[in-house]
Amino acid sequence: MAQSNFPLTGWSSVAVHGGHQQDALQAHLSPIYATSTFVYDSAEQGMRRFKGEEKGFIYSRWGNPTFLEAEKKIEALESFGLDFPVKGILHSSGMAAITTLMLAHLKSGDKVLTHYSLYGGTEELIQNVLPGFGIDKIIANLSDINMAADIMKKNPSIRLLYLETPANPTLQCVDIEALTALAHQYNILVAVDNTFATPYLQQPFKFGVDFVMHSTTKFLNGHGTAIGGILLGRDIERMNTAIIKTHKLLGANANPFDAYLLTQGMKTLEIRMERHCANAQKVAEFLNTHAEVAKVNYTGLNTHPDYYLTKKQMRLPGGMLSFELKSGLQGGIDFMNQLKMCTRTVSLGTVDSLLSHPASMTHYGVAKEERIKYGITDGLIRMNVGIENIEDIIADLTQALK
Ligand SMILES: *Cc1c(COP(=O)(O)O)cnc(C)c1O
Repeated sequence: MAQSNFPLTGWSSVAVHGGHQQDALQAHLSPIYATSTFVYDSAEQGMRRFKGEEKGFIYSRWGNPTFLEAEKKIEALESFGLDFPVKGILHSSGMAAITTLMLAHLKSGDKVLTHYSLYGGTEELIQNVLPGFGIDKIIANLSDINMAADIMKKNPSIRLLYLETPANPTLQCVDIEALTALAHQYNILVAVDNTFATPYLQQPFKFGVDFVMHSTTKFLNGHGTAIGGILLGRDIERMNTAIIKTHKLLGANANPFDAYLLTQGMKTLEIRMERHCANAQKVAEFLNTHAEVAKVNYTGLNTHPDYYLTKKQMRLPGGMLSFELKSGLQGGIDFMNQLKMCTRTVSLGTVDSLLSHPASMTHYGVAKEERIKYGITDGLIRMNVGIENIEDIIADLTQALK
């Protein structure tokens, strides 16, 4: 275990050691604290804990040592190299983290400003659930900074700018720094869903944002073994009051087993992301010249409209890409059926390559005109490029494209 007075300078050193505390019984890895409640030496100690005069755990909906290790590790990674701390609260899922943020920060009459192509669950929350609480939305093309400025100026009830970058399925990005500077002029707080990028590839706090959230289910866990989410904030006071209060009362807590799996997964994040990105670049270049492929969406290709923006705000373009088959809906179904090593499934962020065909799967129920607006054409395939050896990935795609 790294001693707390030893400065960790490298990214993976922090990913491996960050957040770890020596176990009282000398276990190498922190045990899974599968307990709902914590005991007191005396009635007075219980009183001090409830009053907040003494640090210590009380009840696992409010916090648990296994959650704490994962929280501290993600805090350290999201603030790596920055000169201010951030505070993270682990949640049962990415959706739970987003819900806590929305319900803690917004009230009836407030508006959230966001862009197209959000994660499906987030979009449904904003479209179908928040209006019931009197919280309205404005959805706009936020790549147009002038239009964003105009909307903020005309709508003083906007209290949150919610960004997801890169976003599904075209990997489009928005300029975090420019939009955050603009939003702060109008006293609008800014949140970024950093799930696709991970803190290794993109640190939204560096660009001044107020909140970062993740579905830890994806690359942070890395192996598809657990559902989880985290909400991080730069204003520690706000996190320790309004945000944590809402989190506790929604019952949005993680569970110790999933938190344990997350902690182990994050230790290899840097080497996994390097490999995901290197493989994705090669797959994108391979597909880009393939006769059966009409178009490849990957920000590591200089033909992507966000190639330069990605270079500005991300270390590497990431492990996700999508591509359009010339053969349309049936071509997409046939291609999916031919895959022999790569996995047919939705989700992302696992070590194995995952492919999905939105038109026949996630967006089967969405009217064609609707999905085309978001870039989900009949022959669109989405791919999480895994960390297998590139020769095998290309060989599987080659035979499936025949
Ligand atoms: C998966 C995902 C979510 C939701 O996370 P869950 O852990 O499934 O609740 C939110 N945003 C993005 C970008 C995602 O990929």
